[in-house]
Amino acid sequence: MPENFDNLLTIIYLIAAVLFISSLGSLSKEGTARRGNLMGMIGMALAIGATFLHDPNTAIAILLVALGLGAVLGALAASRVAMTMMPELVAILHSFVGLAAVLVGFASYLGKPPEAINTVFLIEVYVAVAVGALTFTGSIVAWAKLSAKISGAPLLLPGRHVLNALLVLAMVGFGVLFTLAPGPGEGMMPLLVNALIASIIGVHLVLAIGGADMPVVVSLLNSYSGWAAAAAGFMLSNDLLIVTGALVGSSGAILSYIMCRAMNRSIWNVVFAGFGTSDSKVVAVVSDGIEREVRTATAAEVAVNLKKARRVIIVPGYGMAVAKAQHSVSQMTRTLRAQGVEVHFGIHPVAGRMPGHMNVLLAEADIPYEVVLEMDEINRDFRSTDVVLVIGANDIVNPDALTDRSSPIYGMPQLTVWDAAQVYVLKRSLSSGYAGVGNSLFFKENTSMFFGDANTSIDDVLKNL
Ligand code: NDP
Repeated sequence: MPENFDNLLTIIYLIAAVLFISSLGSLSKEGTARRGNLMGMIGMALAIGATFLHDPNTAIAILLVALGLGAVLGALAASRVAMTMMPELVAILHSFVGLAAVLVGFASYLGKPPEAINTVFLIEVYVAVAVGALTFTGSIVAWAKLSAKISGAPLLLPGRHVLNALLVLAMVGFGVLFTLAPGPGEGMMPLLVNALIASIIGVHLVLAIGGADMPVVVSLLNSYSGWAAAAAGFMLSNDLLIVTGALVGSSGAILSYIMCRAMNRSIWNVVFAGFGTSDSKVVAVVSDGIEREVRTATAAEVAVNLKKARRVIIVPGYGMAVAKAQHSVSQMTRTLRAQGVEVHFGIHPVAGRMPGHMNVLLAEADIPYEVVLEMDEINRDFRSTDVVLVIGANDIVNPDALTDRSSPIYGMPQLTVWDAAQVYVLKRSLSSGYAGVGNSLFFKENTSMFFGDANTSIDDVLKNL
C-alpha cells in the first residue's frame, strides 16, 4: 500500500475511534443520547469506508456484495423488530460476532505463511476461537430463551461446576497441543476440539442461568462479543477492530457489573449459581400455599383516587411496552399534572427487557426527564405517596424478593411500592412475570388489581379523568 494511503488509513481509524469513545460518553445521558448515536453512526461509516482502503488487493465487488447484503438484512431486521423483542435481536447479533471471530481465527491460521507463525500468534488464534465459539453458542441459547423458544428455567445438571472445570482443563490441554503442533496439518485437530469444547461451555453456562438474571447474561455476552472482535483485530492486525472490540468488551463488562449491583448479586453468583425460575404461570396461590383473594378496581375508582391524590408514582414494566401504553400514560400524566397532582416515574434497572427500556419508551412519549427517577432515588418517597400505578410490571415490585428466603428471586432489589397508601396494579391476569414466580403484592391490603390490557385500561382512566 502506498505510504500516503497508509497514513490516511491511520487518520481515519483515529477519528473513528475518537467518535466511538465520544459516542459512548454521550449515550450515558438522555439529553445527549441522540448526538451520541449520530457520532457512532459517522464513526461506523468512516470505518466501513476505510475497509476499502485497507488492502489494495481486496476484491471490491465481494466487499460491496457483503456490505449490501448486510445493510439490507440489518435494515429489515431493525425496522421489523418490536421494541419488546430488542433483547432477542441483540442476542442473535452477538452470536454473529462470535461466529465471525471463529471463522477469522481458522482463516488466519490456515492463511498465515508458516515462517510468520509464532507462539503469540497461535495463542491469539486459540483464544479468539474459544471466546468466539462460546459467544456464538451462548448467544444462540440466550436468543432461544428470550424469545421463549426454550424454557427460561435454569438447567442445573448435578456436578455442573466439576463439568465446567473439566471442560476448561481440557481446553488448556488442547491449547498446549495446538501451540506445540509443527503446522496446520497437526494443529487443526486441537483447534477444532477447542471450538467444540468452547461451544459446549457456551450452551451449558447460559442454560444454567434463570429468567430474572437474563439481563446480566445479555450484557455479559455483549462483553464477550467485544473481546472476540478485539481478538479478531489482533489476528488481522487491524487497530480499529482492536479499539472497537475493547470498547464493546469493557463497556459490556461495566454494564454487567452495574446490572449485578442493581440485582444485589455478584457476577460469579449469576454465572455459576443458576439463580432460578420455575415454569409456573398462574399464581393465585402464594408461596405459603394458601389460596387468597385479590381486590379489583375499576377505571372510575382509579380515576377518582388519582384526582384526589397529592403525590402519584407510576412504575412501568414490560407490560407497558407490550401494550404500547406509553403515549396514553404520557397524556394521563399531563392531565394529572395540569390538575396539580405531582407525578413521578420510578424506574427499576431491569424493568422491561433491555437496559434503559423504560427510559426509551418514556422519552419517546415526551415525558420530561426530570420526573423520571431511578429506583434508589425514589424508593424512600413511596411512604409519602398517595397512589402508585404499577403498569405492566411484576418482578420489579415483588415484596417476596426482600422477605422470603425461599423465593427464587430473593435478594433482588425492589421498588417498594407497597409502602404507598394505595397501589393499583394494571395487568391482564395474576400471571407471573419473566422470572415465573408468584407475587404477594397482589394480595396486600392496600393493593387492588385493575385487570386488562394496559393501554385500554389507561385510556379508560383518562376518559374518567
Ligand atoms: P415482568 O416480566 O416481571 O412482568 C411483566 C408483566 O406485564 C407480566 O406479569 C404481564 O402480566 C404484564 N403484561 C404483559 N402484557 C401486558 C399488557 N398488554 N397489558 C398489561 N400488562 C401486561 O416485567 P418487569 O418489567 O416487572 O420485570 C422485568 C423482568 O424481565 C425481570 O425479571 C428482569 O430480570 C427480566 N429481564 C430484563 C431484561 C432487561 O435488560 N431489562 C432483559 C431480560 C429479562 P399479565 O400476563 O397478567 O398481563
